[in-house]
Amino acid sequence: MATIKYLLDESDTPKFWYNIAADLPQPPPPVLHPGTGQPIGPGDLAPLFPMNIILQEVSAERYIEIPEPVRDILRQWRPSPLFRARRLEKALDTPAKIYYKYEGVSPAGSHKPNTAVAQAFYSKDEGVKRITTETGAGQWGSALALAGSYFGLEIEVYMVRVSFDQKPYRRAFMESFGARCVASPSEKTNSGRKILEENPDSTGSLGISISEAVETAAQREDTKYALGSVLNHVLLHQTVVGQEAMKQLEIAGDYPDLVIGCTGGGSNFSGLAFPFLGEQFRNGKEVEVIAVEPANCPSLTKGKYAYDFGDSAYLTPLVKMHTLGSQFVPPGFHAGGLRYHGMSPLVSLLADLGFIQPRAYPQLHCFDAGIQFARSEGIIPAPEANHAVAAAIEEANRCKEEGIERTILFNLCGHGYFDMQAYTDYFSGNMYEQEYSEEEVAMALAGLPSVA
Ligand SMILES: *Cc1c(COP(=O)(O)O)cnc(C)c1O
Repeated sequence: MATIKYLLDESDTPKFWYNIAADLPQPPPPVLHPGTGQPIGPGDLAPLFPMNIILQEVSAERYIEIPEPVRDILRQWRPSPLFRARRLEKALDTPAKIYYKYEGVSPAGSHKPNTAVAQAFYSKDEGVKRITTETGAGQWGSALALAGSYFGLEIEVYMVRVSFDQKPYRRAFMESFGARCVASPSEKTNSGRKILEENPDSTGSLGISISEAVETAAQREDTKYALGSVLNHVLLHQTVVGQEAMKQLEIAGDYPDLVIGCTGGGSNFSGLAFPFLGEQFRNGKEVEVIAVEPANCPSLTKGKYAYDFGDSAYLTPLVKMHTLGSQFVPPGFHAGGLRYHGMSPLVSLLADLGFIQPRAYPQLHCFDAGIQFARSEGIIPAPEANHAVAAAIEEANRCKEEGIERTILFNLCGHGYFDMQAYTDYFSGNMYEQEYSEEEVAMALAGLPSVA
């Protein structure tokens, strides 16, 4: 039997994060102050983030050293395995080679602890006592709860209402690590109360939860805020994934023609893809890069590339990104981790420049793919990861039709064992394609802030 699993030694856990800002074909547009419309400086972000995180956010240094206490924890599950999906290849009868990097081996079951541990470390290092955050599907809240317990930090999580109701095990997971979990919109904040006044049955959104978490963090000196996706430093922390995959593929004697990831805010996708894009920018090693998003929250494929707020209450700075408008509330589909109105500015820029091909898939199509993957490979993917699986299968099928052998690499960014309700709905025929309202998107886009 040919090798299907590529492992590295613990000591091969990357020592540096890779910062794509150093290799971009053009500099990213500045982040703007919501009041003045002028570029912000590090000081403007200081009430919310630890200074080392802010410096990483604006850094153009290519390699940033991973602090030893962070690497020490990452080594508990890193390097994560890279698998060759031999059984799936056989089932598809494809000439393509399919590899997947499996991030479900982390204690929280997804890629998110890669950045949660780093962010908790920098907070602790600065004497912070408490971190607030939002969570959509629950993965980020789980990851930060875990990281908080490693470093003895209090964690307060605003969880999008629809997920809070759908996923009681997620809350129990966070509480097991000592975190507090609040359904959002909540009565605890001005932004939450305002939403509830207008719409007492609000299912919530990531944008609303972010407002609540930011508002809470801004009120206390000993409290910072942490974001699980979108921002440059989060994408940076995820690049351990792609760096490891590159080494593992070297052992396999391969290099990908195609790199695929699902995109909510863009972090797992970037973590895998950016080190390969860096090789392309520096050394001309071409790769095709595909970002897959849900058809009912299609920021990259249907959104506008424009300055917008990161949250619904206009508390965050303005960033240029692909957005559906910060007032847009996506329908409550199962891949909760992909329910965000915007997209990482770095991913948005690279998509705008044509280095990333975005694609949107409906959820039933993704679950069909996820089940096919599970039955071949023995791992049930997170609903979000099903989007990447669906693209990998589609590309493998295309290889078969065209009779070409290509090497496909995708990020299996998490397992689905906390998401079995989604699979229950799928098997009982209770999973539907909920269309988003185009009217609502048009309205939300009409309300974009005007920037000179
Ligand atoms: C949070 C999450 C996502 C979406 O976030 P990205 O920043 O786009 O990666 C996707 N998959 C899983 C498993 C997640 O936990």
